Amino acid sequence: MVFSSSIVFPGSFDPITKGHFDIISRAVTIFDTVVVAVLENPLKSPLFSLEERKNFILSACNQFEKRVVVDHFSGLLVDYLKQKNIRLVLRGLRAVSDYEYEAQIALMNRHLDAQVETFFLMAREDCAYISSNIVKQIARFGGDVRRLVPESAALALEHKFKATK
Ligand code: ADP
Repeated sequence: MVFSSSIVFPGSFDPITKGHFDIISRAVTIFDTVVVAVLENPLKSPLFSLEERKNFILSACNQFEKRVVVDHFSGLLVDYLKQKNIRLVLRGLRAVSDYEYEAQIALMNRHLDAQVETFFLMAREDCAYISSNIVKQIARFGGDVRRLVPESAALALEHKFKATK
């Protein structure tokens, strides 16, 4: 019997950071395919468009070739999972402060669909302080974000905030 496993890594990725990238690169050593699913959420107004966010992920992850698939979804994650015929969800945990929110989402997803299982990977120590929001704040005030996000996202952040100055 051939076992193959796919897992969905959902998030805003506005933009992808080195923390997200670390989670993806560790997940590809465990799962056959990691589907990075960018959330299109009408309640959030992201800095980058859906296409931009997907392109940053694609260029950061091209070394993984077909093992990492970049997609998007809107609405309920459980509906997207059903549509893709995948039951595994990947999330990253940075600090205790992430736990409460992540536990709530994981339990709610299981409540909505009992088949869904959420896997958590702990953030690497040197990535645990990185968040998309903090990176955007640093870039807005002209700080160097090249060690915090993949190159394509760093260039786009520099460009975006230079243009608004
Ligand atoms: P959301 O808007 O759903 O929180 P994010 O794009 O902020 O989406 O994050 C997606 C997932 O990546 C979440 O599980 C989050 O905890 C995780 N994550 C974010 N930053 C890091 C990081 N630096 N290290 C590890 N995991 C992270």
